[in-house]
Amino acid sequence: MTELSLCLSSLNVELTILIRFSGKKCPAMVANFLMIFAPRTSQIDSKNQQTIHIPQIHRNTNEFRSNVKVFIDKYGNQFPQSHKLSEFIKSLSADECFNLIVNPKDFSIKEKFCFTAGLLARNEGAVYDELIADFDEKYGDVLDAYRLITIPVLGKFRIGEPKKNIRVCRFCGKSMGDGATFTKVAHAISESLGNQKLFLNEECDDCNDYFSRSVERDIALYFRPSFSLLGFRGKEKRNIKAVGSNFRLSNLDGRNIRIEINGDCPVPAGQPLPLDLELCFHGNERIILQNIYKALVKYALSVIDSADLKEFGSTITWLRNDTFKNKLPKVATLSFDRVIEEHPKIALWVRKNERNDLPYAVCEFRSAFYIFVFIVPTFAANSPSFLDESEFENYWEFFPFWSNCDQWSFIDLSTSEPKKLIFNIQLERGE
Ligand SMILES: [Zn+2]
Repeated sequence: MTELSLCLSSLNVELTILIRFSGKKCPAMVANFLMIFAPRTSQIDSKNQQTIHIPQIHRNTNEFRSNVKVFIDKYGNQFPQSHKLSEFIKSLSADECFNLIVNPKDFSIKEKFCFTAGLLARNEGAVYDELIADFDEKYGDVLDAYRLITIPVLGKFRIGEPKKNIRVCRFCGKSMGDGATFTKVAHAISESLGNQKLFLNEECDDCNDYFSRSVERDIALYFRPSFSLLGFRGKEKRNIKAVGSNFRLSNLDGRNIRIEINGDCPVPAGQPLPLDLELCFHGNERIILQNIYKALVKYALSVIDSADLKEFGSTITWLRNDTFKNKLPKVATLSFDRVIEEHPKIALWVRKNERNDLPYAVCEFRSAFYIFVFIVPTFAANSPSFLDESEFENYWEFFPFWSNCDQWSFIDLSTSEPKKLIFNIQLERGE
């Protein structure tokens, strides 16, 4: 089976087209499809075989659009993905340049950035060399020391061994032979944070149950008031309501919020709202803050390569039990007043060299209005704990694409005592 992954990308839109065929000979339909991207450079070689050279940069010209139309008229029914190409072209302006990368997995992050820089230079007049110099300054050292794991954002994605009978649960180490069952659908990232696409095969039903009543419950409650105020729709695809001992919150239609307050109301009935208003909401249920850190780490270990899990034995014991550490490294957060990710996104940097003064893994997690950057701790005796200010600074400064921004807040999620959350909300009248 031959498999080709074609990634078309403009500065705004990305489309991946997968092509599979068996046998040595490329079917005529596939050859014709590829010819759309190489009509002038293809040639017949001495063995009467056709070689198709596909350039990386393309332009949305009249000729290109008409080639696509000819192909779709002929093969559109047999090759439904070609209609997505038609959608992609509609998103481009006339003569806009776009990239076609064949098998993008084979290219490094730097190479992929160079492709994007090429588009910025052609379409927006940016200076290519300056873009590359800026990239090297921000990412050069990090890419020497770390490899990056990201998850495709298109369509559903299942991580880990597909065959149930040979699967091993990442968190308890059990397989079906040890009595583990894999009947439930395990979400790699909580469904309550809007994850509908990313699943983990290697999570048994027992671990799934454990996480849903511990760390995933707590992280859902932690985000609930802000999700409801800001109108994030979550797993039920309807507006999330939050209820506490002195409040009820709901976002009615994305523009209007309803705040109901029991007890002393800061604004007397009939009075207009003041310019600034501070409200203090008391949650009903107790949560453990350290479970928020655990949930984030659980997401990271759900997407990491299974070969890396051996570094995280102590971490998994901490995750999978009601045991807590006295102190954890600070977590960097940024929050926005608009949804930055409709679907949670995760990027994991895993160290590939022996720089023991740096964390083994660092994760950037984006959900709705938030970005979190956190160390995935190994709790190994021979590595720093990053609790010490200078150890933490050394790590943070190593990642300039984060540390160059001074908007981060650093929060401590070490508390292991169950507590009712209190949310202080400051409302300001807009323009
Ligand atoms: Zn398990």
